[in-house]
Amino acid sequence: MRKLLQGLQHFQSSYFPANQELFEQLADGQKPQVLFITCSDSRIVPHLITQSGVGDLFIIRNAGNLVPPFGSANGGEGAAIEYAIHALGIEQVIICGHSNCGAMKGLLKLERLRTEMPLVYEWLQHAESTRRLIQENYSDLKGDELLAITMAENVVTQIENLKTYPVIRSKLHQNKMAIYGWLFEIETGEVLSYNPNTDEFEVPQTLLSNIPDELYVSTSAPPIAEAEEVAIVRKHNSGNLPPWLSSAQAQRIYQGSTK
Ligand code: ZN
Repeated sequence: MRKLLQGLQHFQSSYFPANQELFEQLADGQKPQVLFITCSDSRIVPHLITQSGVGDLFIIRNAGNLVPPFGSANGGEGAAIEYAIHALGIEQVIICGHSNCGAMKGLLKLERLRTEMPLVYEWLQHAESTRRLIQENYSDLKGDELLAITMAENVVTQIENLKTYPVIRSKLHQNKMAIYGWLFEIETGEVLSYNPNTDEFEVPQTLLSNIPDELYVSTSAPPIAEAEEVAIVRKHNSGNLPPWLSSAQAQRIYQGSTK
């Protein structure tokens, strides 16, 4: 807790004053471009891995980055999805799974959880399609390989679950919705993105080639991780791209849509 309180103090004395204007603007309303659905795992930091900032991402987190199919649960996920799409007008969704996911490990030994962690057991029913698909199609795999396939198939399953929401279906029908599946590899920092055309996960940068440079522009804030550098760089840069985004960082942000 001491570490967090020191961090809070640093935020208030350093980051906030350097970006006060932005926070004042954002106080009037948010306009995030992306709904980011990921695992509760502490090693996944969405703003860090996308080098995005305050106001950029609307985030849903839970164990296993699951999206309960519409009507199957009256939980926070559905409400947050509806709000993000209908009220905020978000047209891009990223579902981001990750390596070494505890929830996916749990899914592979589900019966044991029934008595040990009954609430987790219940929650993982929203990944039952993943579990069954793995059991019936990858029975030859074991260990890390099995876990890696499970996390990948789960991301694809959750994309399908997301499509059961009326707000999502309607936007897809209008061609105003893009859904992306990501895999974040903790040990390498690499992100792979699902390509539905090939049914494979690939480096998202290869999908960026069709997107005009101007779409790399961050919608609002400097990356949280670089708060102090931003204050300095801003004074010397008046170019079109946000000064806090190097081209390499811009490449890291997968906009995911040509809109
Ligand atoms: Zn996880």
